[in-house]
Amino acid sequence: MARMSASVPKPGDPETVHRQTGSLGRRLVLATLGFCLLFTLASVGLRTWLAWHDSLEAMDAELELIDQVFQSNLARAIWEMDSDALETQLDSVASAAPVGRVELQIIRAGRAPEVIQRQRAQQHAEHRAPVLQHRLTYEAYAGASETVGELRLEGNEGLLWERLFDEVTEIVITQVIQSLLLAGLIMWMFNSTVTLHVRRIARHLTALAPENLDQTLRLGRSVKRHDELSLLESGVNSLQAKLSAYLDRQHQDELALAAHRDRLAELVEERTTELRAANVLLQELSRSDPLTGLANRRHFDEIKEVEFRRALRLGQPLTVLMCDVDFFKRYNDHYGHAQGDLCLKVVADTLKRVFARAGEVVARLGGEEFVVLLPGVDAESALRSAVRLQQRLAERELPHEASAVSPYVTLSIGLAGFDPETVDQFDQLLRRADEALYRAKTQGRNCIAD
Ligand code: GH3
Ligand code: MG
Ligand code: MG
Repeated sequence: MARMSASVPKPGDPETVHRQTGSLGRRLVLATLGFCLLFTLASVGLRTWLAWHDSLEAMDAELELIDQVFQSNLARAIWEMDSDALETQLDSVASAAPVGRVELQIIRAGRAPEVIQRQRAQQHAEHRAPVLQHRLTYEAYAGASETVGELRLEGNEGLLWERLFDEVTEIVITQVIQSLLLAGLIMWMFNSTVTLHVRRIARHLTALAPENLDQTLRLGRSVKRHDELSLLESGVNSLQAKLSAYLDRQHQDELALAAHRDRLAELVEERTTELRAANVLLQELSRSDPLTGLANRRHFDEIKEVEFRRALRLGQPLTVLMCDVDFFKRYNDHYGHAQGDLCLKVVADTLKRVFARAGEVVARLGGEEFVVLLPGVDAESALRSAVRLQQRLAERELPHEASAVSPYVTLSIGLAGFDPETVDQFDQLLRRADEALYRAKTQGRNCIAD
């Protein structure tokens, strides 16, 4: 199947194109032959007409010559009434090739004119041949010239046609040979100088592809030749060079574009990763207190509901500690706001260290107030943890000269344990812790109330 389709000529094949379009050389030869035929016809017609007239003139001259040769003999034979001589002369005249018919009219005084004539068998009656007619005179003695007859010579029309036929045959043969030679010469010259090279150009152009554009067209002609074909050759090569340069440039551009695209994809990937990290950070920041790094009120509000519902559902204990730095306004006033911030950081760090177990949440509610959420921890354990917190803070010995309860920074803590009997909302628990804190404050600060 494949072999069959391979044998089918392709549309772009130069041979197929040649077969479809025909040969320029053949068309040129046909045109030349057509022209030669017309020219031959016209030329043959003209030359035949000229030859006919030349023949007529030639025959005219021949009849004139014959007339000159025989007229005096004929005139004497008539004068001397020598009928044998007359017959002989007339036969001689009639046998001359250019003569077709001879008519002699004998004129004698007192007698009717006598006519003697000789005619060739094939003499035509159309009288296309020349005719010569004149009187015959005889001069018996000087000054006595007398008309003795009239001689009429008609040309041999058969000879005329014979000569014309020979002439025309020669003309036709020479014209035909000349035309054929001319057409052959044109065909040969056109084939060797044009068709051959045009086919080579067609083959070259058909075989051209982007990957072989560097193969230049070589017609293999002498370098001295500068004509339309050499212009075409250099034009094709110049076009190939430009096309090749253009494709190279396009290839380079495509590579550069691909590199840019890859780089762009990398950049997008990098930026996406950065954005994801920034997003995570942003989420963390939005949930944490910037000064202490503890959970902020927002985050605490999210967690508290979850833990409260879990404690409610599982019937587990849940304890809240509200912690507030004592006399912190005085601390700020005494040590400055910046030192106050540092103090808050140390307090927060202490809180983180004490409540570091999984599930335990420490948040800064605002100012110097912190809350601790202890899921699964009952009030007793929470109280112990609160005591430990106060101890750890005391161990850090943060000076607080303005405090009325201690030389160091101290915390007042309000404790509230979850009681499902009396509490059904977390905020009630929180309020209780706040009330306990208030009590701790009123009890003298640096203590724990519940
Ligand atoms: P008490 O013992 O009753 O709690 O008295 P107190 O002075 O601690 O409480 P008060 O509410 O009167 O004062 C709280 C102070 O905390 C007032 C405010 O200047 C200070 N404060 C609140 N937030 C910040 C903060 O972020 N940094 C600093 N340095 N100070 C803060
Ligand atoms: Mg306070
Ligand atoms: Mg305070």
